[in-house]
Amino acid sequence: MNVADSEVVMSVLKDEGFCYTGEPGNADLILINTCSIRENAEQKIWARLKALAYLKKKNKTLKIGLIGCMAERLREKVLETEKVVDLVVGPDAYRSLPGLIAEAESGHKAVNVILSAEETYADIAPVRMDKNGVSAFISIMRGCNNMCAYCVVPYVRGAERSRDPETIVNEARALFRAGYREVTLLGQNVNSFRWKNGEKEILFPDLLEAVALIDPKLRVRFSTSHPKDISDSLLMTIAKHQNICRHIHLPAQSGSTRILKLMNRGYTREWYMDRIRAIKEMIPGCSVSTDMIAGFCTETEDDHLESLSLMEWAGYDFAYMFRYSERPGTSAARRLKDDVPEEVKLRRLNEIIAMQNRLSAASKKQDIGKTVEVLIEGSSKRSADHLSGRTSQNKVVVFPRGINKPGEYVSVFIEKATSATLTGRLAE
Ligand code: SAH
Ligand code: SF4
Repeated sequence: MNVADSEVVMSVLKDEGFCYTGEPGNADLILINTCSIRENAEQKIWARLKALAYLKKKNKTLKIGLIGCMAERLREKVLETEKVVDLVVGPDAYRSLPGLIAEAESGHKAVNVILSAEETYADIAPVRMDKNGVSAFISIMRGCNNMCAYCVVPYVRGAERSRDPETIVNEARALFRAGYREVTLLGQNVNSFRWKNGEKEILFPDLLEAVALIDPKLRVRFSTSHPKDISDSLLMTIAKHQNICRHIHLPAQSGSTRILKLMNRGYTREWYMDRIRAIKEMIPGCSVSTDMIAGFCTETEDDHLESLSLMEWAGYDFAYMFRYSERPGTSAARRLKDDVPEEVKLRRLNEIIAMQNRLSAASKKQDIGKTVEVLIEGSSKRSADHLSGRTSQNKVVVFPRGINKPGEYVSVFIEKATSATLTGRLAE
């Protein structure tokens, strides 16, 4: 999400004559895009700001701005305690950056953290920061209305709003024409996408289908889906189009119905399991990944064991795993006690990670001896003699470089697997 936002910011600034440098020492303006979802993400930013102070000593005209969720959440604290910050700009205020930069240049602290009910940056063509020229993100909605008890997103990114689908399809088509072969449709809860077009309402399955129909050679991914909204109609749309990737990120957060209720997730363990069954039945070969939180308020050892057993049952291919950190202002912070001791949270998180390592290894091992279709993304990070790409199931595949180039599809015979990567050779 933040990469997509940075690309919008780059576009706004490019129109004003700014250009990008990868070297902070050469910059006249440094904008730090921030996330507030977990406490340690914020702590890293405070450390980064301290580290940047020395650049200001070297370049007196350098301006430093904090943008994104942390700007929204902590505007006063940032301006009071971090003298090095000249601009504070929330996620719905990027269009006002040129004016705010001018204000900062005239020696004033510049701030705009107004959240909007409408802003989707639909008309802004993002400047792509990805290096591979093969896969790109497209933001299809902003904000969130779900109010999960632990989550700060609805407070820092505002109410949910969908972007005009015509602009989304046009952006995807332009990317395809420019040589891109994969787009990921992004939103906090993509399956609640909705857009009224006169009498007609366009829902997420309609949008997904419209993007998939641009060209069979364009792979389409999407993230994140909320389990409570993953409908059979969405699964049918995926099943119908081979270029909609066989991978669904469906964050469970916990395997305990009691904890899910406290989290205000809107589904039970049984409902979640039913949705996974539906995915496996309707989209054979579809991989599933999750987000898990260890040590949410009041979580007992039994609740934790339910998380582990759900993971094992679902056989996730991949997971993002976190220990709960209380976020000020959320309903959990207001209503519930953060009562799981830190060392217990950590131990449970480590057990969740160990479980996922086993599951990831098992999922990759199943591919040994199979021939899979890979979209080449570029050189392997480890070896210039190898290329790297991904399967429809989002598994990374590395194979010896031949005459093929990034953006091409190749068939690869899988010979080896680790928990993170498949290795193979081009199939005859
Ligand atoms: N909208 C997406 C993801 C949003 S945030 C969804 O609903 O799935 C990404 C992930 O961060 C969440 O899925 C959750 O696992 C984690 N997260 C959010 N708030 C957290 C908190 N306070 N402590 C620990 N993890 C948190
Ligand atoms: Fe946060 Fe829940 Fe919205 Fe995801 S769905 S962004 S976890 S409130």
